[in-house]
Amino acid sequence: MKKLIVCGAGAAGMAAAIMAARKGIDVTVIEKTEVAGKKLTMTGNGRCNLTNEDMSADCYNPAAREYMDKALHIFSWQDTVSFFESMGLITESEEGYLYPVSGQATTVRDIMLLELERLGVEIIYGQQVKEVLTCDASVTGVRTDKGRYPADHVILAMGGKAGPSSTKSTGDGYYIAGKAGLSVAETRPALTGLLTDELTFKGGAGVRSLANISLCFYDGEGLERIAATEYGEVQLTDGRISGIPAMQLSRQAGELMGERPFAEIDFLPAYTDETFEAMLGSVLAAAEGRTVTQLLSGVCNSHLAELICRICRIAPDMKVIRGERSADQAAEAVRRLRKVRIAIKGLSDYDKAQVTTGGVELKDLSDDLEAANCRGLYVIGELADVDGRCGGYNLQWAWTSAYIAGRAICR
Ligand SMILES: Cc1cc2nc3c(=O)[nH]c(=O)nc-3n(C[C@H](O)[C@H](O)[C@H](O)COP(=O)(O)OP(=O)(O)OC[C@H]3O[C@@H](n4cnc5c(N)ncnc54)[C@H](O)[C@@H]3O)c2cc1C
Repeated sequence: MKKLIVCGAGAAGMAAAIMAARKGIDVTVIEKTEVAGKKLTMTGNGRCNLTNEDMSADCYNPAAREYMDKALHIFSWQDTVSFFESMGLITESEEGYLYPVSGQATTVRDIMLLELERLGVEIIYGQQVKEVLTCDASVTGVRTDKGRYPADHVILAMGGKAGPSSTKSTGDGYYIAGKAGLSVAETRPALTGLLTDELTFKGGAGVRSLANISLCFYDGEGLERIAATEYGEVQLTDGRISGIPAMQLSRQAGELMGERPFAEIDFLPAYTDETFEAMLGSVLAAAEGRTVTQLLSGVCNSHLAELICRICRIAPDMKVIRGERSADQAAEAVRRLRKVRIAIKGLSDYDKAQVTTGGVELKDLSDDLEAANCRGLYVIGELADVDGRCGGYNLQWAWTSAYIAGRAICR
């Protein structure tokens, strides 16, 4: 019987172990911590957004799109739903985002552990894989901090560096894969906050509002360009732009760091230029004799109003009088709500990130995710240079890559 060692009992590792064991492979999983699927239990705010009905290769990093186009046909989001159903876990859709009906991420992890137990898969906890053992360009096993384990096949599923420090995601896999001769693309945190050092945005802004946020940069000729725009709830806290739309832009922001990137936020995204001017006219007409804060309270939340006054250098208690400069300043403040610009100076660290961009390059792996330089060695999950948008795409990659490697080993 073929022997498979899976390094890492995370989402991808557990799925690969199940898929291979179901086909009669003798599987052992080695996990460095004392628990399986720790990160999985934290996903989707504790609810686990395990895939998405709106799935396409465009939802992944450009370097992975060609491969993902094929991979998502081999193991699709529907296959994910069936895979979990086959273990007795039912999913439900919230506008296309799929969650377990239990509403608890722990059930996803626990149901996989039950299936591993049923299949007789051994999980060795508390051993850190240190090295892949090879001979004549074929894998022969792995070495951990406590011993050596022979195998015909090895799957590296050690994840990336992203996630709260409690998950102990230190990125061991990149070092081990590199030592096994695989190229590793530079890694960066992704699906994370954007940082600014602009003083206006320092201090407890606490803004939370629906908005369009555009990631902009200066091209080689110094012209402003828009790289991408996202809609959703944007949060501005001390020197940080966060919320899902900011997270969605973070990978591209990381790539544009040398091109003076900035965020341009429209806090009134529902308005066209025409409807905005009509709204502005009504608001100004009603504001006669009120303070600018009172005027803004009808248009945005109080934290945002404070911020807009700071940006426009207007005293919040300035009275708005028709025909005077104060009316122009008030109009300027409302207009500014559609165009708040913030220079991006960096990204939040791995501790606040949901995923790592970069990793083992797909060019060094076959379509089956087998290392080109080493027969029997596979790389799956976040360790590979594949990262997706927020919304179930990263876990879909974990399941898809697990299936592809598992299928190849069973052939
Ligand atoms: C807060 C948060 C929320 C998220 N929410 C979602 C979501 O809702 N939907 C979504 O699609 N994605 C989400 N993600 C991303 C998703 O969790 C990851 O993409 C996914 O867990 C990656 O799976 P993996 O198996 O490759 O890695 P991991 O889940 O990180 O598993 C890797 C495993 O390998 C072990 N390991 C590491 N090094 C070694 C070693 N040397 N020896 C032995 N074992 C080792 C680790 O301890 C770990 O158990 C979220 C991430 C975070 C941090």
